[in-house]
Amino acid sequence: MSGDLDAALRILRQGAGDRVRTRVPLAPLTTFRVGGPAALYLEPEREEDLALVSRAVGEAPIPFTVIGKGSNVLVSDEGFAGLVLRLGKGYRWAARDRDRVRAGAAMPLPALAGVALRHGLSGLEFGVAIPATLGGAVKMNAGAHDGQIGDIVHRIEVYRIAEERAVSVPAEAAGFSYRGSALPEDAIVTAATVALSPGPADAIGASMERARAWRKRTQPLAEPNCGSVFKNPPGGHAAAMIETAELKGTRVGGALVSTKHANFIVAGPDATASDVLALIRLVQDRVRRSAGVELEPEVHLVGRFEGDAA
Ligand SMILES: Cc1cc2nc3c(=O)[nH]c(=O)nc-3n(C[C@H](O)[C@H](O)[C@H](O)COP(=O)(O)OP(=O)(O)OC[C@H]3O[C@@H](n4cnc5c(N)ncnc54)[C@H](O)[C@@H]3O)c2cc1C
Repeated sequence: MSGDLDAALRILRQGAGDRVRTRVPLAPLTTFRVGGPAALYLEPEREEDLALVSRAVGEAPIPFTVIGKGSNVLVSDEGFAGLVLRLGKGYRWAARDRDRVRAGAAMPLPALAGVALRHGLSGLEFGVAIPATLGGAVKMNAGAHDGQIGDIVHRIEVYRIAEERAVSVPAEAAGFSYRGSALPEDAIVTAATVALSPGPADAIGASMERARAWRKRTQPLAEPNCGSVFKNPPGGHAAAMIETAELKGTRVGGALVSTKHANFIVAGPDATASDVLALIRLVQDRVRRSAGVELEPEVHLVGRFEGDAA
């Protein structure tokens, strides 16, 4: 381990003891189920843990990142040579206040949709089958079925690691865009409040059931994947372009362009992260040549890949 990693580990252990772990496999913490270990790993449970992280990375400059459900990340086979954070149970809660629901960032989006349904609140139906945490969904502006989290978020609570302080961000200042936000790199989303509207529970429930059924019908949910690999280019559909380029079923090593949904890559049991990235590059190259369009990956790379920045 490098000197900085050692130093960061020492500081983290002083505050969080054995909860700070080393060489933690990340593959099981992602939906792609590929990739190597985190050099250092911590599940923060409360703000003191995040303040501790601030001090550790302030004194020993190591890279850090945060993951939620790992449903939109591709972790390098080498893993991540820094500190990986994954918010723990202390950030998994939800509280209703009239038409608003405030929830911790580790709250799974489907569970939050369930809370909304139980309270007869409409607006989160689109998220019932997105396998995200609330924090990851806010960072990515996750959406489906004409809905997206940025449209219903009222306020976001973040912890700025670089500044060692908690900050409350109004939705208008989050810079939501298609599958993205402009939240700073060092901002860990710790909670968010969504503004919903009262509605009949049976209609909300039926809409959620339709969303679940649509996914089962159209997506290869039984195999490891990260959802849509590419963003839809302006005015077009990535899946249609990939299908037109006859790439369904194309394979690199253990990674395969899904035969069920062309914008999904599925990782077989022998797949590596390098296979997945090579297939991403192959698809980009073919679509560039066949449609003249540069497909932009939606999936985030974690760690170092040959020829690519982390
Ligand atoms: C089967 C399947 C279906 C999917 N369908 C959809 C869909 O319909 N619509 C859609 O938008 N997405 C979809 N996705 C992709 C994915 O679920 C979303 O991008 C989701 O927002 C990622 O959330 P996460 O908690 O898993 O974050 P991760 O994948 O763990 O992380 C994604 C990014 O968010 C950052 N991040 C995570 N947590 C935090 C936090 N607390 N604070 C700050 N940054 C954070 C990470 O650093 C990373 O950059 C799908 C994925 C799968 C596997």
